Amino acid sequence: MRGRPEILFPLFAGLETLDGIGPKTAKHYSGLHVDTPKDLLLTLPLGGVDRARRASIREVDLPGMATVEVTIGRHRKPAGRGPYRVEVSDAETVFQLVFFHVKGDYLERILPSGSRRVVSGRVELFDGVAQMAHPDHIVPPEDTDQIPPYEPVYPLTAGVTQKGIAKAVASALPRAPYLGEWIDLELLKRKGWPAWPDALQEAHNPTGPQDLSRSAGARERLAYDELLAHQMTLGLARVSMRKASGVASTGDGALRQTVLDSLPFRPTAAQLRAMEEIAGDMGKPERMSRLLQGDVGSGKTLVALMALLVAVEAGGQGVMMAPTSILAAQHYASLKPLAEAAGVVIENLTGADKGAGRKAKLAALACGDIHILVGTHAVFQEDVEFADLRLAIVDEQHRFGVRERVRLTKKGRAADMLVMTATPIPRTLSLAQYGDMDISVLDEKPPGRRPVKTALISTARMAEVVQHLRDAVAEGRQAYWVCPLVEESEVFEATAAEERFKALRAELGEGGVGLVHGQLPMAEKDRAMADFQAGRTRVLVATTVIEVGVDVPNASIMVIEQAEIFGLAQLHQLRGRVGRGAAASTCLLMYRNPLSEGARRRLSVLRETEDGFRIAEEDLAIRGAGDLIGTAQSGIPRFRVADLESQTALMAVAQSDARALLERDPVLESPRGQAMRVLLWLLEQEKAIRLISVG
Ligand code: ADP
Ligand code: MG
Repeated sequence: MRGRPEILFPLFAGLETLDGIGPKTAKHYSGLHVDTPKDLLLTLPLGGVDRARRASIREVDLPGMATVEVTIGRHRKPAGRGPYRVEVSDAETVFQLVFFHVKGDYLERILPSGSRRVVSGRVELFDGVAQMAHPDHIVPPEDTDQIPPYEPVYPLTAGVTQKGIAKAVASALPRAPYLGEWIDLELLKRKGWPAWPDALQEAHNPTGPQDLSRSAGARERLAYDELLAHQMTLGLARVSMRKASGVASTGDGALRQTVLDSLPFRPTAAQLRAMEEIAGDMGKPERMSRLLQGDVGSGKTLVALMALLVAVEAGGQGVMMAPTSILAAQHYASLKPLAEAAGVVIENLTGADKGAGRKAKLAALACGDIHILVGTHAVFQEDVEFADLRLAIVDEQHRFGVRERVRLTKKGRAADMLVMTATPIPRTLSLAQYGDMDISVLDEKPPGRRPVKTALISTARMAEVVQHLRDAVAEGRQAYWVCPLVEESEVFEATAAEERFKALRAELGEGGVGLVHGQLPMAEKDRAMADFQAGRTRVLVATTVIEVGVDVPNASIMVIEQAEIFGLAQLHQLRGRVGRGAAASTCLLMYRNPLSEGARRRLSVLRETEDGFRIAEEDLAIRGAGDLIGTAQSGIPRFRVADLESQTALMAVAQSDARALLERDPVLESPRGQAMRVLLWLLEQEKAIRLISVG
């Protein structure tokens, strides 16, 4: 794709080229995230004011907006500090215009007694007298058309006024040209949507409240443009991932059967379905790009192993990458016995591997002696060569955006790609965030799980909590103690954990308490985890490093300090660390008073349910989409018109529309494809497109 099409240049000119905006005001517009005329045009009115002409203010329910023609009567200048009043009469009644802080003879000039004026503003009764304080509009009758019958109200920021923004919008609107239509014409007709510049005109000139609703044709079209551009970006990512493909991996199922036979349980229906979907994808010549989404404890690891075995059965290799060395070690430990029972060679590779040991592993990988590699991002370093890599699994990367995924696939060469996430994602967000992938969902938990009892408890009752812990440890139970989250500072977080560690050791005895946090050297972290896993320590003081994946079935108590400052999803993940074994489990959410209304609501959701999807939906409802997924990281753009929460259906249409177009025209050369390129430039998706380097 070459540069931005010239036809769009006026929409990307400096803001000061618009009426009513000088170099100084232009800067203020950044408060509205408006940097170009295009941004301004996509900043739609939030509301509207009814300024329909009336014969008299008597026709309006007071207090209320009124626009009437009046004869100017007597001026009553203030004696001292009071307001300046001007008596006026409309067709039926007399009322007052009221002004504060009037300087000079300004009012005498604009409101000469005996003249006719149209005034518009809010009328209120004060001691039985109707008053309009500081009218929004005062014009001679011949200029009435300067007052729109329904006046749009824009969002404002410091230094930007309604009049200024309205003027700027009016001068920007003629810059929106008719462009080739990028929306499917059938859809456009069915929805009755206007063409792009007409939609802008309508959206900025509402005739009543109905035009401000999300379902108004003009607004819906502009929202759809944004969703479509985003889904096109995801679709292009998908195309470029699949383009690099080639290998179809089909196995005879022998290794998988051996492993399944060795298990003490049977896979759930959801696991079987996901395994089938994955094996199906891997058997096709296109490259798989699939998300495996499953709540904590839903059994993603087994599904992942089955996928890796498909790669091995097909004569190739598989790799699994975890976000931390703790997790990588744990995956390795749980996969190893199963893999080896089937005669499969599995190794791990982390940053801790150095020198000759690392060299030997790399050599074994390169000649195919290692079938499955588990590790941290170390597995994707430049010099790590596979003999025949068929499948790359990325675990728990819910913080990854589409760009990171594309980058990762490039490293994985032509391998199929499976991303696993333990964060249940409401459909509306999964479409926006993972629209480039296919999705398998584990929506069923293995049988026999005991519910976790969740209680809220004030920090003031710390002594009771410690006593409870002492009793539990005496009964042979194990507990996690999670220390407060410190935004942006792992060092402070570590300090808090060290202090809690010392305090708990003093209470519960030297040997029984372990400590793990992100600042510890790798070897110490591993030792702390191993001690806890083996039951040598009974209480593990930790930061959120244990958030994902850690699996110690004997641990049945989770204490979380200052739970009110954690996100819902994070608390859900943390709680998911217990309730994995036979014993009944407890989660204590400790909070500091006073608890805000929002925090109370969040913690109550957690007490009421363990269903990750419900928690995610609640989280979305409480926080809104923008907040839920750090948008910058997730790769979801800030939509100006579209609304993720209420326009899920539209997002789904955009996804299938984008995929259908790319199916027919993967390099966007057809007339509609060309129009689509213009849309991508218009909505500034070009960075994403360049990144995935299409056509
Ligand atoms: P996730 O990674 O999805 O949080 P895991 O894969 O770690 O979950 O599985 C959690 C626990 O459930 C593990 O101990 C695993 O052995 C066990 N498990 C997995 N699938 C089943 C099943 N179908 N029936 C019983 N237990 C299972
Ligand atoms: Mg897991």
